[in-house]
Amino acid sequence: MREATPTEVRRDFDSGMPDLRLPRSVVVIGAGLSGLAVAYELANRGCDVTVLEASGRAGGRAYTLREPFADGLHAEAGAMTLTPHCHYAMHYLRELGVGLETADLVGTTFSYFMGSRLFTPDRESLEQAGLPLAPHEKTLGVEGMIDRYVRDTYQALQPDITAPDWTVTPLLGRYDQRSVYEVLTDRGASPVAVDLMEPHFLEMRGGDLKTASALSWLRHEASPHSLTNADPRWSKVKGGTDRFPQAFAERLKDRIRYRKPVVRVAQDAERARLTFLDQGRLQTMEAERVVVTVPFSAVRHIDFTDAALSDAKHDVMRRVKYSSIVRVYLQMSSQFWPQRNASFSTDLPVRWIRDATPQLPGPRKILECLMTGWRARAVAVMSAEERLRFVLDQVETVLPGARDHYETGTSVVWDQQPYIEGAYILPELGHSALMPVIRRPEGRIHFAGDHAAFEPNGGSMTFALESAARTVLELGRGSGEQQP
Ligand SMILES: Cc1cc2nc3c(=O)[nH]c(=O)nc-3n(C[C@H](O)[C@H](O)[C@H](O)COP(=O)(O)OP(=O)(O)OC[C@H]3O[C@@H](n4cnc5c(N)ncnc54)[C@H](O)[C@@H]3O)c2cc1C
Repeated sequence: MREATPTEVRRDFDSGMPDLRLPRSVVVIGAGLSGLAVAYELANRGCDVTVLEASGRAGGRAYTLREPFADGLHAEAGAMTLTPHCHYAMHYLRELGVGLETADLVGTTFSYFMGSRLFTPDRESLEQAGLPLAPHEKTLGVEGMIDRYVRDTYQALQPDITAPDWTVTPLLGRYDQRSVYEVLTDRGASPVAVDLMEPHFLEMRGGDLKTASALSWLRHEASPHSLTNADPRWSKVKGGTDRFPQAFAERLKDRIRYRKPVVRVAQDAERARLTFLDQGRLQTMEAERVVVTVPFSAVRHIDFTDAALSDAKHDVMRRVKYSSIVRVYLQMSSQFWPQRNASFSTDLPVRWIRDATPQLPGPRKILECLMTGWRARAVAVMSAEERLRFVLDQVETVLPGARDHYETGTSVVWDQQPYIEGAYILPELGHSALMPVIRRPEGRIHFAGDHAAFEPNGGSMTFALESAARTVLELGRGSGEQQP
């Protein structure tokens, strides 16, 4: 059976996904947002659904840190920002009664700290900083550079690049074989201009400019989800992103079984069989269908030897790469820096420093440092205490007084988060062709999760939820019914 297109999934979802002939029993592996949404839709339609979750909480990468902070402060370890175009996320937030507030990224005072100088992205400030820009870049300002090197590039790829039901056309395919860095420098960007633009479109996605596919990046940049297209309607979940998965989990109650890591999935013509760990014992469970939402960064912990998966699926499970991201949080006794909603992109290993509590009343504040790529992997090998000290020393360079105001801190190393082991998928050269293989059901086994999204830059709650809708439709419309 042909795979539904994104437009078809959205149309069916918006009309309430009627006329589904669902299997009697389904086991969902993983209680991240995608697994929760699949289970929620199935449970509402009377299906016998069980969610097996390896950890002790629901939400996966929708994860809010509340400790060790004082005064009820909290910070996001994973997902945070929503745009009005996050159709599936907005649908469920409304349905579950979860509130929103303005995103931290709206109205930031954004500055650079490079070569030990502080400056802003406008033309005058760049000129005063005396950066070695190419002659034609000196009058552009960072916004002008983004226009010239990014917006002009994707405009030339219209309408293919923003098509809702997009495919890798011959025109787009050429960009899947080139890195982001190549595309930018071929268009005349100097290395300094690349450094200045990077935080505006890449740092957030953990991009590795020299290995990331330019096609995936351009698709993201051309979308309303790109930071370069941010507007005041961008939002975040009021009180912390974890309220979103918790709202799902409350409705699913005892259908979710925590601390039950699945270690084996098998299938034959009659059933799918799962083996999972339950308080030190191996247990088995059978179902008509299984939905695997485990990120492919952690899927190797499950044995699929007797699952009759295609060679292509095994291959893609091995090849897909995830971004490395580390976030470090420093609780400060007060806001000792002058900028409101401060955000600094630096050329220090600490990379990005921002006020992670711009909406909270204070006086205490949390400063967050976000590292990606090799910088993230470098701090990942430090002990938790070393990491805090290392980061605090660098924050002191940018914001003198940091040491005196520091009270406590913590960090999250996504590569080391059990059962997740990466931040989100980072498409490398040629990887766009792998995406349909990730999504494809194999007999009784279906695949949801942000990596199984239609978009190559899946790292997004709404794309994870879209993959859940696609999977529910697959389950109810008989896709994947040919048996192994
Ligand atoms: C640093 C960071 C920043 C982000 N920022 C944003 C943002 O601003 N906006 C946005 O929309 N999105 C953002 N995202 C992306 C967003 O968090 C994810 O796309 C989304 O939460 C993924 O949901 P999921 O269900 O696909 O996977 P996950 O949330 O990873 O859920 C998978 C679940 O499977 C469980 N599991 C794994 N293995 C097993 C096993 N063997 N047995 C049982 N259970 C298992 C895991 O414990 C986990 O709970 C960010 C992510 C990160 C890491």
